[in-house]
Amino acid sequence: MAGGILAETLPAQALQFAYLIAGILFIQGLRDMTHPRTATRGNMISSAGMFLAVVVTVLWFEILSPVILGAGLLVGGAVGGYLAVSVETTEMPQLVGLFNGFGGGASAVVAGAELIDVLASGGSLGVGLTSTAAIAGIIGSVTFSGSLVAAGKLHGVVGESPFEATTGHVVKAVFLAVAVLAGLALVVQPSLFGSMPMAEWVPTYWVVVAAALLLGVFLVISIGGADMPVVIALLNSYSGLAAATTGFVLDNTVLIVAGTLVGASGMILTVIMCDSMNRSLTNVLFGGLGTDDGDGADMEDIYEGQITETSPEEVTMLLETAERVVIVPGYGMAVAQAQHAVAELVDLLDENGVDVEFGIHPVAGRMPGHMNALLAEADVSYEKMRELEEVNPTFNQTDLVIVTGANDVVNPRANEDDDSPIAGMPILNVEQARHVVVNKRSLSPGFSGIANPLFARDNTSMLFGDAKQSMQDLVNEYKESTS
Ligand code: NDP
Repeated sequence: MAGGILAETLPAQALQFAYLIAGILFIQGLRDMTHPRTATRGNMISSAGMFLAVVVTVLWFEILSPVILGAGLLVGGAVGGYLAVSVETTEMPQLVGLFNGFGGGASAVVAGAELIDVLASGGSLGVGLTSTAAIAGIIGSVTFSGSLVAAGKLHGVVGESPFEATTGHVVKAVFLAVAVLAGLALVVQPSLFGSMPMAEWVPTYWVVVAAALLLGVFLVISIGGADMPVVIALLNSYSGLAAATTGFVLDNTVLIVAGTLVGASGMILTVIMCDSMNRSLTNVLFGGLGTDDGDGADMEDIYEGQITETSPEEVTMLLETAERVVIVPGYGMAVAQAQHAVAELVDLLDENGVDVEFGIHPVAGRMPGHMNALLAEADVSYEKMRELEEVNPTFNQTDLVIVTGANDVVNPRANEDDDSPIAGMPILNVEQARHVVVNKRSLSPGFSGIANPLFARDNTSMLFGDAKQSMQDLVNEYKESTS
């Protein structure tokens, strides 16, 4: 690769020094992202690191003409900026999925381009180069197609696998075998056939890519919608691994560092999410949870004659006498954008000396940290947000739990029904509180598609309605009753 403007004017060590600074910024950014209070700053610091890495790389190496590079950065930046401001928070997981996919796809394409470049400039293909390219090709392509399918599933535009489970596993095994064998061929070919002309063997790399693309599609299409968050986190990890491997192909330190950080953090998140659902990764990838249509038939049996409806006036009466209240938000709060009304209610309860906290489930909403981010946006103090392990032991000393827009994360079937698709998933044991008020628009199921016997419990009343409207009604009623 020819030297760019920076390579001509600065000493050789300057490039590695800039990459070192970028690496430090990535690590500091990730450190800040471990707490909601510092997460925004962490994002900015990591972005600054990436900006530095990109600018230094394009000015150091003369990769393409400055006009093409500038145009690419401009168009890419504009699309990214537009998506960042226009996409709804509820659609964020799909967006993250797409970003993962493009990262993986870019790694696969860059690894292939490097092979072509080395051959075109008369270089030789060592085992180190071909093996890392094959690995980047496989992981990057699986990430690309798998992420597109995952995003499509979350967006409701991709359906279920056309194969039943066993056939699906065979199909996946065949594509995996083709990808690995083609990858091996790529590694041994140059040494076996010496100076074989480029045009005759480069297609082997694209066979790796094609088989891995199909593998990605079939790996993800057979996984149930309820497990998509774990899949997105796993594919995030894969996109990092693909980038790190491409870093070895290109001998680029900053790509190796950034890719490894993404790979490791994505894997840690995957493990945390599997733990929060009490599932093994193998079970998520091959178990097929949530691929059926739910259990609509038994819903009527569970709810028949058992539902107690309540009103904002009645809930206000419970609030007036409560000493401790826990609010459990879920996906519906995000859809309704009810976080500001919820925060106002919490402020009022605080002012009236009520001990009020939030119970936050790790997979409430549609992305990790979804509830924390929304509540932080509404200026709720972090001290009020209790994680599952912290809040569960307190429910039996709680007078009232208000569940707003949550369903699966408070479904007792996870504890009580071994045949339920969510069996074993740790849930918020809200039914242990004296009173439970569940606010949602109907008795419709949540993401996993199954009925929730909590709604029919003796100590549960249903406050039907949109979360924002219902919370605002509660605020108004409570204000009136305490003024
Ligand atoms: P659920 O999807 O289980 O339930 C949400 C409930 O919100 C629905 O039953 C719906 O009922 C109600 N709702 C929808 N719109 C409104 C509204 N405007 N006002 C009031 N209520 C509304 O959500 P949970 O947060 O409890 O659980 C999360 C689920 O999502 C889990 O199954 C998890 O696995 C999955 N998931 C999680 C991700 C993550 O990373 N957090 C990512 C992707 C999926 P109704 O229609 O009757 O109003």
